[in-house]
Amino acid sequence: MTGKTTLTFYGGINEIGGNKILLEDKGTRVFLDFGKSFKERSMFYDWMERPRLANGVGDLLALGILPDVKGIYRRDLLSLAGRSQNEDGFVDAVLLSHAHSDHADYISFLREDIPVWMGKTAKDIVNSIEAERQANMEFEISGFRKRPLERGSGTISREIHDFRTGEKITVDSIEVEPVHVDHSIPGCYGFIIRTSDSTLIYSGDLRMHGNKPELTSEFVDRAAQSKPDLMLCEGTRINETVSNRESDVLETCKYYVVKAKESFVFVDYSYKDVDRFSTLYNVAKLTDRELLIDVRTARYLQALSANTSLALPQPSDESIAIYKPREGSGKYQDDDYDEEDTKLYRQENVWTAGDVRSYQGKVIAALGASYIDQLIDIKPSGGIYFHSTSEPFNEEGEISEMKTNNWIERFGMNRVHSHCSGHASGKDLNEIVSRIGPKTLIPIHTEHPELFTVLQGGKVKMVESNSTFEL
Ligand SMILES: [Zn+2]
Repeated sequence: MTGKTTLTFYGGINEIGGNKILLEDKGTRVFLDFGKSFKERSMFYDWMERPRLANGVGDLLALGILPDVKGIYRRDLLSLAGRSQNEDGFVDAVLLSHAHSDHADYISFLREDIPVWMGKTAKDIVNSIEAERQANMEFEISGFRKRPLERGSGTISREIHDFRTGEKITVDSIEVEPVHVDHSIPGCYGFIIRTSDSTLIYSGDLRMHGNKPELTSEFVDRAAQSKPDLMLCEGTRINETVSNRESDVLETCKYYVVKAKESFVFVDYSYKDVDRFSTLYNVAKLTDRELLIDVRTARYLQALSANTSLALPQPSDESIAIYKPREGSGKYQDDDYDEEDTKLYRQENVWTAGDVRSYQGKVIAALGASYIDQLIDIKPSGGIYFHSTSEPFNEEGEISEMKTNNWIERFGMNRVHSHCSGHASGKDLNEIVSRIGPKTLIPIHTEHPELFTVLQGGKVKMVESNSTFEL
């Protein structure tokens, strides 16, 4: 143990996401996020393939998808891998910036006695996702509390603490002030971190061009006041200069829905993005259609209903319909669905594929790409496929897009695209960093860290994956 503050980068370097950054100060150890790395994972698995449950965390450790850090993983998952876990208390806390998979998902593998801190809204989101059945090993966030499958049945009592913007958290020698930022999911924070001898800024994921730029602005101002020694800054879109706004997405979507006249509209978007949800909801109202959502989105709306600042409609809203797919028996029987879903499927505004087929010009089916096979049951007479997420940024994404395009073509539909990113452009990132004015800048969450040097010069320090940086 040294007296110096150090950062060890177990993920988030030269890749978009997978943030797992260990901050150490005088023996206090805190992880900044503990997310899934899509890049590492896609080297060995396609998105449908899963590591073997029978080997616990063993497969992910063997492939380097999870860092082999002693004393941090769940005993049940280590023992399945034939390993013992003898070191206690290696990590004192995990600070979660927001509930996106690439920041949050692998917390489910961590020991349940490691306290996890997250924003109040992020906790509501985690609980909502937790409620989903996840019949696989990489159980997304559901492993926060549930054991995988039936093995070692029962729930995990994970220590989850929540915070609000500006509330200070103390973990031994480290003090953290979370400040809200705007991003494509609610409950997102940047951190101002004070160790025994330095001040650090962790950007999380953020943007200036979204519906709530004032949140990010407040974070930037507070971060600047702290006169930081170092900033860890996301750079997802460091190589871009312009950003579509959410209002552009609304205008484009409305334009094509109007053009579609009496034909079908299907939308692919991330259901966790409540700004996009609101955009689609507003387009549905403006074009006299109903917004058709899946049961997962319905539960998400319920989970966030307590947060009045989000002003989201409830699943029973008159402009919303819930889509009920065929499962199990194929005949819409109650026992084909789990209890929570059945409750929602008993609402009056539930539509089956037959209903959608009969009223295809009266609906915007915001079901997402995972429901694309429902086109087989819906049998649309052409229409629009509105793609409203990021364009593919790697080969795997391009292959998946090619497959989606085959579905679209097969059902005689036309693809249109409009999206407002959750990430600041390079121009905005440069302004954010300049306003904050850290002495040292380490780019994270980007495939183009070198571009920060072009903008910010000599203060930029490049680090390698799995390396330790001493402040
Ligand atoms: Zn994110």
